[in-house]
Amino acid sequence: MISANNTGLPHCNDGSCRIGRMTTQYDLHSHSIASDGTLSPAELVSAAHAAGVTVLALTDHDTTEGLSGAQDRARDLGLRLVPGVEISVSWQSQTIHVLGLNINPDCTELQAGLSGLREFRNWRAEEIGRRLAKAGIEGSHEGALALAKGSIVGRTHFARFLVGQGHARSVREVFKRYLVNNRPGFVSGQWASLETALDWIARAGGVAVLAHPARYRMTASKLRRFIGEFRECGGLGLEVVSGSHTKDNISSMAALCRNEKMLASCGSDYHGPENPWIQLGQLPELPVGCTPVWQSERWHAH
Ligand code: AMP
Ligand code: MN
Ligand code: MN
Ligand code: MN
Repeated sequence: MISANNTGLPHCNDGSCRIGRMTTQYDLHSHSIASDGTLSPAELVSAAHAAGVTVLALTDHDTTEGLSGAQDRARDLGLRLVPGVEISVSWQSQTIHVLGLNINPDCTELQAGLSGLREFRNWRAEEIGRRLAKAGIEGSHEGALALAKGSIVGRTHFARFLVGQGHARSVREVFKRYLVNNRPGFVSGQWASLETALDWIARAGGVAVLAHPARYRMTASKLRRFIGEFRECGGLGLEVVSGSHTKDNISSMAALCRNEKMLASCGSDYHGPENPWIQLGQLPELPVGCTPVWQSERWHAH
């Protein structure tokens, strides 16, 4: 969809933007084996390119390790890679994911912060292993580490290990039975505060976007309260279109975005071909009236 804006230039407010013969397809949320995705950064970029994505953000959990490999392949293919990260945040005893988009990965404060989160991840992984052992499942810490292949370790690696051991039929089922609140392998998150995470993103010159806002099961008023704080800390955008949002989620998040004067983003949250219900480059358009994050001054600031 193309419309006029007050700069006089045509703009589009969706993931697929056509100006003349030029087509831009944005996907601003994806994972590689540097966190809990299954493709290497280079494979991910190739898959995105094959799917028609022209601007891809690699946003691994709490690490920027995959960015250089992704950047090399993106350069070869003529795809624009947006350097990103998905930061784990604790807010009112809930875990929230904040995307830092267009970040400078060489920023010292950002890297020191992410390194602290990974230390917590390593301790948490041991603790999950101990708790699962008490519940009769041995060897899960070693199993998860082996699946993480030296990259950061997350609950997804535990889930894949447990599926492999026949404790459940799917990753989703492992989460439900073992890894969420009130289940034997649950360890509560001690992540960055909202203020701290947004400070790292700002110092790295990035744009902060709330990932998959409909996934947190917050009441509408709590979500508005969160967005108020998020904005006060410098947050600019909401991921209106996400691979994990329903059509209804997209409409309500678009309305929230307009009412709260936030910018809108779109991203698949792709983790690899093992989850066939989430594809790269298959995102619905951003609803009319949303201002895309890539049209902000901040996006073009460097
Ligand atoms: P972690 O950051 O290690 O706590 O793991 C969070 C990740 O686990 C998310 O980014 C998803 O990739 C995955 N995840 C969370 N909940 C579920 C679920 N219910 N089913 C499948 N994967 C999930
Ligand atoms: Mn993940
Ligand atoms: Mn997430
Ligand atoms: Mn994600």
